[in-house]
Amino acid sequence: MTNQNFLIDNLAFAARGERLQAKLPLSDFPRLSELIASQQTKATMQAGEIEFVLEGEKNVLGQCFLHLALNASLATSCQRCLADMPLALALNFHYLISNVDADTLDDVEAEAGDDFDIQEVSQAMDVKLLIEDEVIIALPIAPVHEDDCAPVTMQSGEKSNPFAALKGLIKS
Ligand SMILES: [Zn+2]
Repeated sequence: MTNQNFLIDNLAFAARGERLQAKLPLSDFPRLSELIASQQTKATMQAGEIEFVLEGEKNVLGQCFLHLALNASLATSCQRCLADMPLALALNFHYLISNVDADTLDDVEAEAGDDFDIQEVSQAMDVKLLIEDEVIIALPIAPVHEDDCAPVTMQSGEKSNPFAALKGLIKS
């Protein structure tokens, strides 16, 4: 567990165009670790890690942005064949730092476009919490191999079902 805090004054961070980069073990993200563990059937692979780059930006209009790029290497289990399966996520996020109440949030988001999320102004924004939330949201509910499941479903003499593969793609 990394004891370093990743708290930033997000407006100042953006205004100064700062950059924060780190590689953190999965154990730094307790809620995510628990979720991953709940999906593992064998857990023979070692726990994952998350690497991220956070960059601040202030544009000519004085708007402050955060750009987050992260790569998560996680070890989960295929929910179809139950074999260990590495799961790699490469995600990019863009945040407009703005203090808006819930009523105007929709308007601001519409104005900012789909490319930006709103991040509240904070002098102690927790970057690790943000990363953990984003990875949890992006995590497939039932991760499955894309095309090379172990052939356990064929051993009982079942006929191959062409829709079985599709089933795994549907997110419930
Ligand atoms: Zn599989």
